[in-house]
Amino acid sequence: MKVTQHIAEAKDTIVSFEILPPTKGKSIDSIYNHLDSLMEFKPAFINVTYHRAEQVFKKRADGSFERVEIRKRPGTVGICAALMNKYKVEAIPHLICGGFSKEETENALIDLHFLGIKNVLALRGDAAANEKFFTPHPFGHRYAEDLVKQIIELNTGKYLEDEIMDGVKTDFCIGVAGYPEKHFESPNAETDIYYLKRKLDLGADYVTTQMFFNNEHYFHFLERCKTHGVHVPIVPGLKPISSKRQLTMIPSIFNVEIPVDLYNEMQKAKTEKDCEKVGEEWLLMQCRDLLKQKVPVLHFYTLGKPQIVYNVLKKLF
Ligand code: FAD
Repeated sequence: MKVTQHIAEAKDTIVSFEILPPTKGKSIDSIYNHLDSLMEFKPAFINVTYHRAEQVFKKRADGSFERVEIRKRPGTVGICAALMNKYKVEAIPHLICGGFSKEETENALIDLHFLGIKNVLALRGDAAANEKFFTPHPFGHRYAEDLVKQIIELNTGKYLEDEIMDGVKTDFCIGVAGYPEKHFESPNAETDIYYLKRKLDLGADYVTTQMFFNNEHYFHFLERCKTHGVHVPIVPGLKPISSKRQLTMIPSIFNVEIPVDLYNEMQKAKTEKDCEKVGEEWLLMQCRDLLKQKVPVLHFYTLGKPQIVYNVLKKLF
């Protein structure tokens, strides 16, 4: 079922999770161990992130180095199929522009369509580890909106090869990313919403937000979106914070703010367990507030901390 249909038919706020593929060489059991207990809360869908290949230097026998491309977390499409099969749940693969040609993207979309996957989250992706700024693949897309365009075209049966007449129409429901605290490259929040609106005007169906730790950012974002004529569901992304290290790491990676109260409480924590408790209480407080405002979905970036999400959900539902 499409995300938009899930939301339209739900009587109350629904729950969803986001997971990362395991690093290459690890078993898919690590995903199942992560999700087994969380399935008790009957998530409507599970997102699976996509990770571009990274360039690394490998030492040759003669001592010189060669540059090779390594995908450290492959398996997004396979994991989606496995989750649908094991848990009978809707799986949403993320698709990114970075590192992919249009042809590779089209082939991935064909695979997803054949697997019966109905939803995708269309993203640009970040700059490669060795780049300062995002550089598109020479035969790929520069912005997420271009990827949205390609998916919409495939939904109308238009393939990259003009010779394909009467091509099978895919039927993807398309999610895109939104940033309550604005995307770090955007000159200002207004410009950021302008480009978000373009993705939606092209045919994207809903928005999933970057994580935020102060709900006011999300509520202001909803207001700004409304002012700009955005009326699709805006799914709030929530991440449990569980260590002091994350207080500086999260802002530097995701360009989001850690509220003073959360920072101070975490600083007082003495043990790892104390830190997790602080993170759990903060997430619980955020969720209660969001539920009061009747948000369509609580979407959790579970990323390695399923227990905190489990404890919070157990207290909420
Ligand atoms: P875009 O919408 O293309 O925007 C990128 C920047 O360009 C913004 O500043 C925007 O305002 C600007 N812009 C957009 N269109 C135009 C235009 N036409 N002209 C000029 N400027 C423009 N990354 C991964 O690699 N894998 C994942 O699985 C993944 N999952 C994510 C899930 C969520 C919910 C979120 C919020 C992010 C995720 N990311 C993921 C990170 C994401 O790829 C980065 O945040 C990336 O930097 C931007 O992606 P985007 O889709 O928002 O890009």
